[in-house]
Amino acid sequence: MSVVLLPPVTTSCGRIDAEPLTVGPRFVRTRAMSRWHRPRSGRRYVRTGRAVFDLWCGGGYVDDTALGCDTPPPGELVCGTCDGRAVGAGQEVDGPDGRELLFSPRWIDPPKNCPGSRRTLFAEMAGGRVGRCLVCGDLQPLRAMGGPYDPRWAIVQHPTGAALVAPCAFHRWRYLTVAGDRMACACGRVLDAPTAADQRD
Ligand SMILES: [Zn+2]
Ligand SMILES: [Zn+2]
Ligand SMILES: [Zn+2]
Repeated sequence: MSVVLLPPVTTSCGRIDAEPLTVGPRFVRTRAMSRWHRPRSGRRYVRTGRAVFDLWCGGGYVDDTALGCDTPPPGELVCGTCDGRAVGAGQEVDGPDGRELLFSPRWIDPPKNCPGSRRTLFAEMAGGRVGRCLVCGDLQPLRAMGGPYDPRWAIVQHPTGAALVAPCAFHRWRYLTVAGDRMACACGRVLDAPTAADQRD
């Protein structure tokens, strides 16, 4: 049985020669580990073909030479932090009885406030008082912002518009920047114009 993985948003945002993995083993461990852990996200490196899984507990990562299993053998220990977090995140259908669990990780769902808020990711409209947000497509007022050490002419904080740019497969909307006339992630991935499925109503 495989489980659905989250996008690897915590991956550092240097250039990444990898693709995110969407499914992984339920439990993983290396031979050196004292207990079974659970994968939160994963990626496969394009050049080497090596797969790496990040753990829910944050206790490092394992690669695809690690052991994987559906149910740890009787008597073998399971990392409580990994198991609790994986279950709490809905990676498991049979969570704790009688409790409705809520899990809303930051940066996974489209954000309520546009990630372009208070930033300089806009195209100025004629007159210079209004900009079209390059992140979500909405027209919003421009203002002088920042303190004496970080002065900038930026777009005001605003709700995410309907034409939100497609997220980076790794970092979602966390590290947006501009590459030529396209939106990109700081990791170098150019982001697609929004598809219908990514648009909010
Ligand atoms: Zn763990
Ligand atoms: Zn916006
Ligand atoms: Zn990225």
